[in-house]
Amino acid sequence: MTELDEAPGVGGFGKWSMHGVPHKGWTCVGVEDLGAPAAVCEMCERQDIRYVHAMQHPDFPEILHCGCICAGHMEQDVERARRREALMKNAARRRAGWPDRKAWRRSRQGNLVISERGFHVTIFERDGRWHGLIQRPSTGYKRFSKRTYVSERGAQLASFDAILFLEESTNVAWTMSIRRSPVQD
Ligand SMILES: [Zn+2]
Repeated sequence: MTELDEAPGVGGFGKWSMHGVPHKGWTCVGVEDLGAPAAVCEMCERQDIRYVHAMQHPDFPEILHCGCICAGHMEQDVERARRREALMKNAARRRAGWPDRKAWRRSRQGNLVISERGFHVTIFERDGRWHGLIQRPSTGYKRFSKRTYVSERGAQLASFDAILFLEESTNVAWTMSIRRSPVQD
């Protein structure tokens, strides 16, 4: 039996059985490929995870970093979580080569920068930690990485995950707008 077969609530493990932790109404705000099963799901506190779904809830103070199935139940859309997971798995090889892309340049300030698929990424160091900034000039989107990284390369890899997530989010929004079109109804 895999994690996929288990019931909503994932057996009541960890925070699923903890008072004050919402079971529903979470939103995925980011994804990250750790490269190996290097963390434990913060919801069930049991599943080893490589592909992290960052989950946010208006009535909970922290973002929880979760596995696919817990994330799917938390947002009440297991298919959507599976799609994100599949996207990360499919992208794993491209991701590995991302920090070595020839398109990376050093800015005058010494930061690594790249423009790719409509996104502009800047990797910069502050207080001994590495951060990322992702901009999408066509939409005015601009966001700093929520986490910081011990290496420049780690921040580069995280920027790949962020772009993947943003592209997927955009696709979902686009699909929904198509579905809502009166012409289709
Ligand atoms: Zn879990």
